[in-house]
Amino acid sequence: MNLELLKKVLPEGAVRTDAALLEGYKVCDPLAEGYVLPAAVAAPKNFEEVQSVVRAANTHGMKIVPVSSGAPHIKEGIGCREEHIVLDLSGWKKISGMSRRNLVCMIEPGVTYEELLPAIDKEGMQLPLPIAPRANKSVLAASLDREPGNWPNKQWNAQDPICSLEFAFGSGEKFRTGSAAAPGTIEEQRALGISHKGPNGPGATGFQRLIMGAQGCMGVVTWATIKLEVKPSVTKTYLVETDNFAAMERFIYDVNHPRWGERQFLMNNVALAMLLTYKKPQDFETVRGKFKDYVCLQEIAGFSVLPEEKLRYQDRGIAKIALGHGLKPEREIGGVTAEEVLAAAVTPCGEQDWRKALKGECLSVMMQTTLDRAAEYIATVKAVAALAEINAEEIGVYIQPLVQNTSVSIEFMLPYDRKDVARVKSFEEKAVRALNAGHAFFGRPYGTSAKIVWENDPASTKLLKTMKRLMDPNRVLNPGKFGL
Ligand SMILES: Cc1cc2nc3c(=O)[nH]c(=O)nc-3n(C[C@H](O)[C@H](O)[C@H](O)COP(=O)(O)OP(=O)(O)OC[C@H]3O[C@@H](n4cnc5c(N)ncnc54)[C@H](O)[C@@H]3O)c2cc1C
Repeated sequence: MNLELLKKVLPEGAVRTDAALLEGYKVCDPLAEGYVLPAAVAAPKNFEEVQSVVRAANTHGMKIVPVSSGAPHIKEGIGCREEHIVLDLSGWKKISGMSRRNLVCMIEPGVTYEELLPAIDKEGMQLPLPIAPRANKSVLAASLDREPGNWPNKQWNAQDPICSLEFAFGSGEKFRTGSAAAPGTIEEQRALGISHKGPNGPGATGFQRLIMGAQGCMGVVTWATIKLEVKPSVTKTYLVETDNFAAMERFIYDVNHPRWGERQFLMNNVALAMLLTYKKPQDFETVRGKFKDYVCLQEIAGFSVLPEEKLRYQDRGIAKIALGHGLKPEREIGGVTAEEVLAAAVTPCGEQDWRKALKGECLSVMMQTTLDRAAEYIATVKAVAALAEINAEEIGVYIQPLVQNTSVSIEFMLPYDRKDVARVKSFEEKAVRALNAGHAFFGRPYGTSAKIVWENDPASTKLLKTMKRLMDPNRVLNPGKFGL
């Protein structure tokens, strides 16, 4: 790769090749194989510079992997098996267009959860969050990847919280989606009162649906507007535990049906103890032992209109729903309060992913389904574990109701020691094949699941190849993702 050609299109110092820097873009996952380090890191400062890099890549046959989060890059979203350069946007930190009235703000790719949360809190707003996100994780990249948020009642659309986007196609062409697709500059649009909250557009199109979930292989996003929520004025949080999964399933359906409750998630006692003890993993067994098989975190809240009244009727109503299924909302279990669980879930976990604390590494298999089928998939994974010499009792299960519980994301977590890589890899392959055979939906396919999902869906693979040819004709962006 002739890096001199790249250096010519960017200001001096924006292209770096020092070995220590390149090492920072290593995929830190023992299950990921064959990825190479980038040949260089380009750090453009504005859209025009991004465009110059993408155009130079098209002209000179280079490959580009967009990166927005800081290191460590724990899994293979940024992995590339071909010679490539990293387009690093993690230094883009601007937050603008913050509007409490319209509950929206614009973020650049490098804004992390640790930076965004205090900024919106000051304005009286909150954001549905992935569970304890990595401190360095880009909010934009997590939202593009549709990492499940913890606030099902506030999710109206699978692409929430993304509203509008600005991005460069693989050709370098600039494009804006949502209400930002209207004519004029962003400043001119703001002056007209456009808040960039709308996700559809231009016209009736929704191009961001192609960019989202694409793992950087369809376009390079340079900003997004995201949907925010009013910060509650009063809240109450419970834990609901049971060994009877069917009762829990009914409870969650019944709470979401009238759109009650706010932040909510369900974990088995393995996943919950992993979350609660990532700073002190030696306490894992003790904490796990405090809980029944499954624990649901349920928050209720009042906002600006009649907050106390809202809290009161939902408090009574949810207790009644729980009782109807033989359950009881508790403020604490075994000395662990519901507030502690919520705090652990909504606080960035530090540099390293919390899942890794127990054994050093953690396999995650993620899929989507409806809640009434979750038990079936859990049974599938446990049956595979028995065949693969994996102790099913060590598998964490995190179930996140999505879009008002019209679907759920299930994450199976297997904490493991590096010396067990071969066994875990074989388990992953068998588990994904079994889930896929049972029609699980893999909305965020990575690694083994990506391979198996696309292998088994030739019709979608063909369509995806056509889309890739349109969006990125010279296969410049993150080549190899989804076999493209
Ligand atoms: C719970 C959980 C489990 C996961 N399990 C797995 C797993 O088993 N295997 C696996 O491979 N991955 C998995 N992932 C995803 C994985 O964590 C990320 O892909 C990986 O960590 C990439 O590093 P990053 O987050 O630091 O990169 P980021 O910079 O956040 O990038 C993430 C993805 O977005 C793309 N991207 C970044 N910035 C832009 C931009 N501005 N425009 C367009 N695209 C962009 C990147 O190319 C990359 O594909 C999991 C994620 C979560 C939350």
